[in-house]
Amino acid sequence: MPKDILILGGGPSGLSTALHLVQIAPHLTNRILILEKAHYPRPKLCAGGLTADAEIILQRLGLDVSEVPHVDASAAHLDFAGKGLTISLPKTHALRIIRRNEFDAWLAQKARDKGIEIKEDVTVKNVQPQDDCVIVETDAGSFTAQILVGADGSNGITRRCILPNESIHTARVLEVITPERSVSASEATSYSKRKQSPIKQ
Ligand SMILES: Cc1cc2nc3c(=O)[nH]c(=O)nc-3n(C[C@H](O)[C@H](O)[C@H](O)COP(=O)(O)OP(=O)(O)OC[C@H]3O[C@@H](n4cnc5c(N)ncnc54)[C@H](O)[C@@H]3O)c2cc1C
Repeated sequence: MPKDILILGGGPSGLSTALHLVQIAPHLTNRILILEKAHYPRPKLCAGGLTADAEIILQRLGLDVSEVPHVDASAAHLDFAGKGLTISLPKTHALRIIRRNEFDAWLAQKARDKGIEIKEDVTVKNVQPQDDCVIVETDAGSFTAQILVGADGSNGITRRCILPNESIHTARVLEVITPERSVSASEATSYSKRKQSPIKQ
């Protein structure tokens, strides 16, 4: 069976695309190939906050994300423009915090368990759309695909090859990792009295 559905990038987008394809159309399983330049578990700059929506999507795929080491955050507070909002959900956590290296490796293993092939340590160098196929050049040879999914990140090679003249917008992000600390009851009370706009879902 030719591997003619190529997914470039084995992060959450690529793995989720493959898992959904297999769930909807199991007969496509043997045609899917994910190309990933890194090796799991690989680092990824990310705060690791999994939203409730993400958990629901994983549940619908039959996956239990509580298998991944995590901490639950009862509320999330966003500060901006001198204001802010607090997100909380009734009777459950607002966010589940995971480590991306662990989460992505777990999701990749779930994909493999479903029969999806992932080639690690393969870097895509070029993507060439043809009239009837797409040629993907990598440091491990060339692949020909009928369908290509670019899931190689915001500044990935797919975007640069398909949209070579598009300008790139770069955002600078500062991630600060702080020690875990428990919040005292008095702190929590004064925090909730601040002028915030709580979102209850
Ligand atoms: C500082 C920071 C904090 C964040 N915090 C959060 C948060 O708390 N919650 C949240 O939901 N989101 C957060 N995000 C956003 C989140 O990290 C991204 O939305 C998410 O990683 C996108 O997933 P993806 O699969 O599209 O891309 P990625 O996770 O970037 O995966 C792309 C994959 O493609 C592979 N790849 C790239 N180029 C090639 C190539 N040429 N050949 C082969 N493989 C390739 C990479 O190795 C990688 O595995 C944060 C982002 C940043 C920068």
